[in-house]
Amino acid sequence: MKKIGLIGGMSWESTTEYYRIINETVRETLGELHSAEIILYSVDFYTIEQLQHEGKWEEAGRVLADIAVKLERAGADLIVICTNTMHKVARQVEDAIGIPLLHIAEPTIQAIGARKLERVLLLGTRYTMVEDFYKGRYVGSGVELQTPDDADVETVNQIIFEELCLGVIREDSRAKMLAMIEKAGEKGAQGVVLGCTELELLIREQDVALPIFKTAELHAKYAAKEALR
Ligand code: GLU
Repeated sequence: MKKIGLIGGMSWESTTEYYRIINETVRETLGELHSAEIILYSVDFYTIEQLQHEGKWEEAGRVLADIAVKLERAGADLIVICTNTMHKVARQVEDAIGIPLLHIAEPTIQAIGARKLERVLLLGTRYTMVEDFYKGRYVGSGVELQTPDDADVETVNQIIFEELCLGVIREDSRAKMLAMIEKAGEKGAQGVVLGCTELELLIREQDVALPIFKTAELHAKYAAKEALR
């Protein structure tokens, strides 16, 4: 089994999900007392969020690249960045290491393709919904991404940073997001990408009529499968 290097803590509320899902997948596959070989480097999210906020992406990229190098030296065979947003610096991380980086968009694009959906709503941080680093991965995939209007982008962003990353789950926030999803469905969205690793802590399958694509779960399962391959 390959060793998985996790760059986590962004936030740790979702990194715990990665840890659980990767271990569950390995146990389901190998049985008995098997569990995953994981090396986790969990950051202080405060410092990363400051860099995001100040637009210091180059510096943030250096921080994550240094961590990836440490994980590689510690014996990791592959690297997983446990957040969609920080894939903005994925290239910088990839360039620093000699082992594969498993991009978070890949398993989601495949899962949407398997359902033969052509148009899906993307929810995530403002960075992920507005900028191109994540959406760009879908170009040529046959999947068109729909994003919420400006006011809703701000609402989702606020729910992520002021609630979910702090472990706060609020019914009124869930209701706001479900209303957004319903509106997107009326505009032709056939599914929803929960493009922030904390969103699946708030929105569950039973809440929505449309299929949902949980990026943390899909990414974690992808990592476990790659480790076992
Ligand atoms: N975990 C979140 C994501 O998947 C947001 C936190 C961050 O800014 O990294 O985008």
